[in-house]
Parts: sequence; structure tokens; C-alpha cells
Amino acid sequence: MSRSNDHGYNLLRIRAIRTIISWAWFPYIIQIIMLMVFTALAVNGWWRFAPEGVNDKLYAKTNITNLLIWGLWWPAIVWIAVLFGRAWCMVCPLELIANGTERLGRILRMRQFILNKWLRSGWLILGIYALIQLFIAGAHLHRIPAYTSIFLWSLLGIAGLVGFFFKDRAFCRGFCPVGILLSSYGRGGMLAVRAGSGHACRGCTGKDCIMACNRAKLYGRSCPSLLNPPKLNSNRDCLVCGQCIKSCKPDNMQLILRRPFHPADIRDEYASWPVTLFILMVSGFVTGELCSEWKTAQHIFLWLPEHFTGGVGLGKISGWVEGMWMIGVYPVLLWALFGIVYSIGGSDASVIRNWRFFALPIVVVVSAGHMAKGLAKFVSWAGFLPGAIKDPPGLHTILGISSKVIPLPASLMSLSVVSFIGITLVVVGMYFAYREARLSCPEKYRKIRAPIFLLGILFIVIISGWK
Ligand code: SF4
Ligand code: SF4
Ligand code: SF4
Repeated sequence: MSRSNDHGYNLLRIRAIRTIISWAWFPYIIQIIMLMVFTALAVNGWWRFAPEGVNDKLYAKTNITNLLIWGLWWPAIVWIAVLFGRAWCMVCPLELIANGTERLGRILRMRQFILNKWLRSGWLILGIYALIQLFIAGAHLHRIPAYTSIFLWSLLGIAGLVGFFFKDRAFCRGFCPVGILLSSYGRGGMLAVRAGSGHACRGCTGKDCIMACNRAKLYGRSCPSLLNPPKLNSNRDCLVCGQCIKSCKPDNMQLILRRPFHPADIRDEYASWPVTLFILMVSGFVTGELCSEWKTAQHIFLWLPEHFTGGVGLGKISGWVEGMWMIGVYPVLLWALFGIVYSIGGSDASVIRNWRFFALPIVVVVSAGHMAKGLAKFVSWAGFLPGAIKDPPGLHTILGISSKVIPLPASLMSLSVVSFIGITLVVVGMYFAYREARLSCPEKYRKIRAPIFLLGILFIVIISGWK
């Protein structure tokens, strides 16, 4: 077994971690527990709406389904992705469902399709993510447990169907709504699966980590995501499932803990169009979310869509219009500005084509802003957890809070402290974004400074208003 090397520290040197990762039931057992929690939350949220006269945002905090999914899990997943890559995928219940139905389809001799290029490229994921954001803004998907429940059941159903009719972890590779977010936020993650010695792989005759005949095994499968483990040089597509570690008889695969944004990883000079548009969309969403913590900033950010809906009498669908503003119109205008600033001094491409060039560095700043918002949300929602555990539907709690019998739980941290941490995160994000640009394209990276600086300063100004 290889020990620590210049890529980082091989966690498999720790006996307990090695035993867990090599265990035949890992990660299935954790996925089963996650699936039970996931299903219980979907049942708990079923057909539950805020009681008459109660603010749905407050009710969302007292109902354990909404509290756990949107208030705690979602912010946590943003942090986990940035810090540890796709570590969540290791224990994800949707992968378990898709894996199970894929096996069932195989047993029933169903004709299973191969994911085509269009699905693999992420266009569908981009569309699904946009739709979810619109439902959040327009229908308050994140505040109404009944809608969250439908969302959870739909994810389970779609994962099952896709697994049944497609081969090779198709749900994760072409359908999962958070697939692009995890792969773009997690690029610099400190946890990585990598081969140890190249010499060992070259001399390996079994190649069990790649052989197609191993793919249907339960334990020690060749990579179910169709990656090439000996040549793995990026966190983008690896779900850290550990199957290649189990399958490697020469014991040459490693689970590495390393510094963030490790220079040994391969960098794409240009992002694909779906990834570029996804990052554009998320930059708008994160700006809107950061503004939501400061009334003045929110007022400025939503000034145009509010006047538009008021002016043309579209008040009833104002949430949907605000959603379109947040993930569509505003980020396109912002990125047009980035493109223009980037092009000053001469550029070999059009403003829009340049987006693909600075999307991957920019996403580092976007993810830092997202972490800041995630922290603000987590600390203000976490205090509701003990009450939600005692009363999962949250009806008694919300009625108690509304009639002032139950006091509102305090935030775990003051917003000023969160603001300080948030600004620090964005500054660190700007540093790494600039470094990513330099590593991906040493000739042109200086020009990316301007868009990184603009977005970083915008986020810092907004976060500094959090009081
Ligand atoms: S890609 Fe999505 S479905 Fe697949 S393991 Fe990751 S989070 Fe779960
Ligand atoms: S099985 Fe192990 S040693 Fe063989 S090619 Fe795969 S990673 Fe390398
Ligand atoms: S490379 Fe290994 S850890 Fe990554 S997805 Fe493939 S089998 Fe799982």
C-alpha cells in the first residue's frame, strides 16, 4: 500500500478508515440509513401546509422535513462539497435506489439504454436545477412541507426509473439536480480518490478497477461511473464510492486528504456550455440569497422586478418573475459586464464565448458566497431542531410560537460574526479563484482578475451589510 505522497495523506493508512472502506457493506449500510431518513421526511411532509394565518417561512423552520432538507442539509452540502468534494455522494440514498433498480432491470433482462452525449453533458441537469429554483421563488417549494414532500418522492421515483431503464449510474451522470453543483463546487475538495504508484498500475494484469465484467458485482466493482481510476486526476466525476479501492488487488488506490485546490489536479481551460450557464445561474441565485439577509440590499436587488410586476399588474406571479430575474436576467447582465471588462485590452473571442473561460475560476467565488449564506441560514435555523425533533410536523410548535407561548429559538451565532466569517470566505475564495485561473491558463489568467474582483467585491459589500 502506498503511504502519504506529494498528493497528500493517504487516509487508508488509518486502520479504522481502511476497515470501514474495505467493508463489503460500506457504503450501502449508510445509504440505507439515509434512505430511511429521506423516506421518513417525505412521509412527514406529506400534505402539510402552514396553518391559516401563519407565515410559511416560520412554519418551514418548525416542520422537521423543511428544517432538515432546506435549513440544515442544503447549507451543509454546500460546505461539504467545497471542502471535501463529492463526499456526500458516497452516502447518497438516491444512488442506492438507482443502483438497486439498475440491478433489477438487469435481472429482468430489460433493455437498458446508454446515456447519450446530450444527457452526459449536463443540459438536462441545468434545466432541472433552473426549474427547482423557479419553484422555490414562485411556489415556495422550500417553505411548504407538502411541496418538499412531493419533491422528495419525485426524486426517489425518477432515480428508480432512470436506474431501471439506463445503465452505468445514469441518474448521477445525467439527471441528478445537484450533479453540476457538486462537480463544480467540489473541484478543489480536500478528499480525493487517486491511484498510488503509476508503476503498479502499468504492471497490473487484472485491471479489476476497469474491467466491465466486474461492474455488476456488489463488492469491489469496477468504476460504476465508467471512470478510469488509475488515471483519475480531478474530483469532477468521482463519487468517492470506494469501489475501485475495494476492487484493486495490488492495493494501489488511495483515499487522499490533501490541501485545497491541489495543483496536481487537471484543470479545464474552458468550461462546457451547460457548466458555464449553470455557474452563471448560480451566481445570480447566490447574489439574491446574500441580499436576502440585508433589507436594503434586497430592496435594491429586487427593485426592477418588483416595479415591473407592479407596473404591469403581475403581482400574483411576482415570485416567479423574481425567480426569473434572479437566475436569468440579472446574471446575464452581470456576466455581460464581466465579459466586457474581460475583453478590454483585446480578446480573441466574443463577450459571451469568454464566459466559458472565466466560469471555472468564478465558481470558486460563487461557492464562497454560497458558503456564507449557508452559514447564515444554518445558524438561524439550527435552534429550531430540538423543537422539531419533539414535534416533527411542527404544528404545536408553530401555534405556540405564534401565540408567544413558545419563545423563538435564538440564532447560534450573531449575524455580525457570520458576516465577518462570510467576508473572510469570499476573500479566500477570490485568492483561490485567481490561482485556479493561473493554473488553468498561465498565458491569459491576468485578464480574469477583473471579473473575479468585481464579483468578490459585490459579495463583500452585500455581506458587510449583515447586522
Ligand atoms: S450525483 Fe446526485 S444522486 Fe448521485 S450520488 Fe451524488 S448527490 Fe446522489
Ligand atoms: S486494479 Fe489497481 S493496480 Fe490495477 S490498474 Fe486498477 S488501480 Fe491500478
Ligand atoms: S473512481 Fe473509484 S471512487 Fe470514484 S466513482 Fe469510480 S469507483 Fe467510485
